[in-house]
Amino acid sequence: MRHYSPSQLKTWLKCPRAWAWRYVRGVITPPGAALVVGKAVHVPAETYHKRGMDLGTEWSPDAAAAAMPVEEAADVAADAFERGAGDVPWETEDEKRDAAKDRAVRMGSRYVSHVAPTTGRPIAVERKSELHPAGRDWTLVGYLDAVTEEAGGKVVLRDTKSSGKAPSGASGGNIVVPNDYRRQLAAYRWMWREGTGDNPDATVIDYVWAGKRDTNSATAPADVNDDDETLLFSLLDGMHLMVKAGLFPRNPDSWACNAKWCGYWDRCIKRLEDV
Ligand code: SF4
Repeated sequence: MRHYSPSQLKTWLKCPRAWAWRYVRGVITPPGAALVVGKAVHVPAETYHKRGMDLGTEWSPDAAAAAMPVEEAADVAADAFERGAGDVPWETEDEKRDAAKDRAVRMGSRYVSHVAPTTGRPIAVERKSELHPAGRDWTLVGYLDAVTEEAGGKVVLRDTKSSGKAPSGASGGNIVVPNDYRRQLAAYRWMWREGTGDNPDATVIDYVWAGKRDTNSATAPADVNDDDETLLFSLLDGMHLMVKAGLFPRNPDSWACNAKWCGYWDRCIKRLEDV
């Protein structure tokens, strides 16, 4: 039985050979700054919702805000950044590192000050979920960021994304959720239904972004549906067939196929090592 995750599928679609370096050969490359920043933004968001769940029947927007002050969110993001930053091969050392930390702190704070207060009572946070599709020898494993219950009992499945720039469409108030985020939400929607018997009423991406000075956020509806799940299933099936056959073609046309963005480039393209 093979266990896949939405992030594995993302790697596979970017380049099957990169997937094989990581999951067949077990080669782990150092994390990039964006990954460490993203995790540092996730931690205060997760902490906010976990404390909200701990409030139980005492939950209210005010009680949730009191349980996680914005000042604490900044500290939580800074600590999370420091825990991961040591593994990043910073190019120009302190300057880039400090700028990345500053963005992580601003985005973590922004989530708690502007995004979190717009969300309802949390009913699941960082929940590990697993899917076992009938007749398949693969499973899909993932962690749901947060599921909240909004006014009228509406269940909303949410995922947080952070970035150094505004998502496409943000300036016009019409963010287009990209395909890889839709696939991720489709996986979580499917997992949620497996666990509860019902689809969530809505799927959204909570975006926070920070440039050199500006910091902003927006919640974008993704409206993931059955078609997204069908496509996801088909992609996973295809990936699994190729994995079982040991087929891992290089993708030199991928935007990531260069020394800067692919940690396997030296051995994979420069020395043409086999996986
Ligand atoms: S160097 Fe290019 S072909 Fe090789 S794993 Fe990376 S992206 Fe794929």
